[in-house]
Amino acid sequence: MAVRLSRPYACGVPATRGKRSTFALTERVVLSAFSDASGQTRAELGQRTGLSRAAVSAAVTNLLASGELVPAHAAGDGPVRGRPSARYQRSDLLAPVVLVELLHSAATRVAVVDAHGVTAGPVEAAPWSSSWAVWADTTRSAAAELLGGRSPRGSVLLAPFPVREGAGQPAMHAVERERHPGRLPPNPPWLETDPRPALAALLDCPPLVLNDANAAALGEARFGAGRDYRAVVHVSVRDGIGAGLVFDGELFTGASGFAGELAHTQVTEPGRLCFCGGRGCLATETGGPGLARPLEQLYERPVSFDEVTADIARGDPWVTRYFRDLGALIGKPLSSVVTLLDPDCIVLDARLEAAAAPLMAGLTATLEQRCPAALVSRLRVLPGALPDAAARGALAAANAAQLSAGSGAAVRP
Ligand SMILES: [Zn+2]
Repeated sequence: MAVRLSRPYACGVPATRGKRSTFALTERVVLSAFSDASGQTRAELGQRTGLSRAAVSAAVTNLLASGELVPAHAAGDGPVRGRPSARYQRSDLLAPVVLVELLHSAATRVAVVDAHGVTAGPVEAAPWSSSWAVWADTTRSAAAELLGGRSPRGSVLLAPFPVREGAGQPAMHAVERERHPGRLPPNPPWLETDPRPALAALLDCPPLVLNDANAAALGEARFGAGRDYRAVVHVSVRDGIGAGLVFDGELFTGASGFAGELAHTQVTEPGRLCFCGGRGCLATETGGPGLARPLEQLYERPVSFDEVTADIARGDPWVTRYFRDLGALIGKPLSSVVTLLDPDCIVLDARLEAAAAPLMAGLTATLEQRCPAALVSRLRVLPGALPDAAARGALAAANAAQLSAGSGAAVRP
């Protein structure tokens, strides 16, 4: 029984969307009824366009799914009797969001993202292990430079550690430091507690903190290779191995934000000690957290990912073998995920580029070996379609959280 390998995602019509030719026109008409960033109800859109309630409703549903409309911020709505009518905004008319990406042992990346994608950046700021004064100063300067006087409506901090909904500090590190004092460097104080108040003051806009693998999963599941599927498991690889679970278009993060931490599933028994307190974790056994260090060991020198993918493209057996073995190893814990959750597709990190093919070959071989044939025969394993999946997912999360800056103040350099 073979896992179905798919070609890279080609634009298609999702099955849930009905007759595209009919809806496409009404969707454009509904979008044309928005002249600014103010919110409109379905009734108001019906009055402005002359479309029937059913036609407006169908168009709004599709435009929400595609991200072209977003739920409007509720603040400022007057008191109403009963349930207020939902309001919607056109996403391409909204102010941008500042994206601040923390990376393991590397510089922070700052970018500006709006409905068109990443429109400015990324530029580098100090690593998150720096002092608050240094990190804050370089991050705010980078944001101000990229915004060029525009006021952001919010910021999204992408973190390489589990993030509990409504908070944002690396709780796992804190627990492990208590158990094994001295093994890990201390977190900067601003990450010892919920970092959102400090971020809000720094960038003058409401912040959101999101795990980076979860953001990429949300991006691919909503807008990329997973958009036609109900239960999507996305696997990030380049900057650190991690999974994201998206069911019916919504992220599942678990009780404490740990869901999807594939890197800390045990693949070798007992294996080397991991900073999470476990042994033989996928993260330690792959020499991670990301690919930079293991690839440097493979080449016995620093190497760019472009060089690696060029080597794969010309059929280098060593590098191809490395990625096939990596896929086979990732397949071990992923096979349990498949058996437990019955996803209909697994999407791989789009930034793997040419490395996706050998990794997928190793991964699917392990899944075939370890999963029930009935599950595997239905499962699609797809290369990611969006190199900027994390940015797209971060923006979707910001839209869902209805981030909206009250002050309207520009970020000061
Ligand atoms: Zn671990």
